[in-house]
Amino acid sequence: MGGYRTLDTWMSFPAGGITATQVWKDPHTKDDFSIRSYKIDAAVSSNADLSASAKLVIDPRLDGQRALVFSLDSNLRVDSVKNGQGHPLAFFQAREDKDRSQSYGDYVVVILDEALKSGTSQTLEYHYAGKRAIRKVGNGNYFCESSGWYPARPDSFSARSDFDITFRNPKSTVLVATGEKTSDTTDGNTRVTTWKSEIPLAVAGFAYGDYKIYNDKAGETAVDIYANREPDDVMTQVQMYFEAHSSEGAIGNLSPAGMAKTMGIEMANTIRLFSNYYGPYPYKHLSVTSLPINYSYGQGWPGLIYLWSGSFLDATQRHAIGFKDGVELTDFFRGHESSHQWWGHRVGWKSYHDQWLSEGFAEFSGNLYVQYRENVKEYVNTWKREKELLKRPDVKGHTVESLGPIWMGRRIASSETGRGSYQDLIYSKGGFVLHMLRMQLWDSHSPDPDHLFKEMMQDYCRTFNNQAASTDDFKAIVDRHMTRNMDADGNHKMDWFFDEYVYGTLVPQYNIHATTTATPDGKTILNMTVNRTGVPDTWKDVIPIYAHQGDKTTKLGTILIRKPTETINVTIPDKIDRVTVNDYEDLLADVKQ
Ligand SMILES: [Zn+2]
Repeated sequence: MGGYRTLDTWMSFPAGGITATQVWKDPHTKDDFSIRSYKIDAAVSSNADLSASAKLVIDPRLDGQRALVFSLDSNLRVDSVKNGQGHPLAFFQAREDKDRSQSYGDYVVVILDEALKSGTSQTLEYHYAGKRAIRKVGNGNYFCESSGWYPARPDSFSARSDFDITFRNPKSTVLVATGEKTSDTTDGNTRVTTWKSEIPLAVAGFAYGDYKIYNDKAGETAVDIYANREPDDVMTQVQMYFEAHSSEGAIGNLSPAGMAKTMGIEMANTIRLFSNYYGPYPYKHLSVTSLPINYSYGQGWPGLIYLWSGSFLDATQRHAIGFKDGVELTDFFRGHESSHQWWGHRVGWKSYHDQWLSEGFAEFSGNLYVQYRENVKEYVNTWKREKELLKRPDVKGHTVESLGPIWMGRRIASSETGRGSYQDLIYSKGGFVLHMLRMQLWDSHSPDPDHLFKEMMQDYCRTFNNQAASTDDFKAIVDRHMTRNMDADGNHKMDWFFDEYVYGTLVPQYNIHATTTATPDGKTILNMTVNRTGVPDTWKDVIPIYAHQGDKTTKLGTILIRKPTETINVTIPDKIDRVTVNDYEDLLADVKQ
């Protein structure tokens, strides 16, 4: 009664004599093959059916495999798979799920005539077609699924392939895809475009519809907004409701096109900000499309971002409809999704253990954009909210933070915790980890107080440019950029920090009492007592401390806390009114002072 079925992972390990250490070093060690390149020829009909042929060049990594598993939306029915010699191969595809709530699995198993031999590449040519990969959701409005529309390796985000794609669609619509557009012609009533990846990509996707296009630029990067000219079916209903009930006030046109220019400016801003912090944007252009209102999410594919059309509404419209207003749906959402061009694409993640490097970093980036677009106070508020979220109880009453280390990744999600808690943990705590590092590296004495943090992030992006990184790979970069003050163990390593906040759980409680006494010669004596509870006695923290004089705040430095009780007595060579900690929510801790 009212129950639901869910699958729990009880254990997970590499098969076939491959050790966990080997997989830890290179997650592809356990893959039987990788996909070097795709040549896809896809056609979209006027009633939104998709048909395609996809030629894959695969590189075997292990010998002896004959059954190869690919993921593909089961709504797209495969009618043939041929090998490089044009011979049809046996294949098995799960039942079509249509719109039933039960899925039979979105995969295809292809049986080769001969087993894979490493070092000998193979070609597979798929032919498939179906409805539901694209859905018409209004006049000139189509929802195109971003995953599942071509055969891929399951869980393949850490791998990269070349994509060469041809699309044919009705001339009345505009199609935009990942990669560089290399040609654009018409053939009768059909528009033919070709798209080629400049560098290997993790995924490919497309969107199409009747768009208003707005072009902007962020430095050399073209930023193009593809916003639907007309509202989707749901928003048309909403608009009609407001028009019929004039007492509700004018709501204006609810089509995303009205916000195309604003979105262009905002998205170009995000690219400028993140290029400044993280280094160059990885592609030549960025296209941004609007997702129908009942697909309320955002997704960043390489050079192509899908944004919920709710974020294309202006403040008056959001208010009238009753969407919770605030920076979450605007600045934060745009920044988060845009930053995935770096977090996920410029630098991928090696395994599910490392996905916080993508979602946590994107969460941080969304908040960083809030700081620049609004102010520091709003930025600090975002971290207050993230902290509240981590303290919230999940379905079984455990606080989100206590569910497990962020390094556990999706294995946090189970029938015990629910999916939402996993997301809250990885996103919020993952973001907090990066924010804490930023505040530890903050240098008030420089004209750019973030210069150390930027150098670290740019080094990370350069080192793992268009490659996947693991948590330990990132830690090695942090080790390289840590300051002497962050060296709690005196070994030039940040293990103490990662062990506590990435590989561990717990939130310390701090009770801090600080007094300042002015000396006759213009100096200040600081007396500080720090009491800590809620964590083992061996816990360490590096706490930034701030000096206030009048309305001026500067970071005095950091203090290293190694014991449950610490007292600090120092003379500061300046006149200071007051000393505080945690001014910028620098700590994932409960702080009383
Ligand atoms: Zn994200």
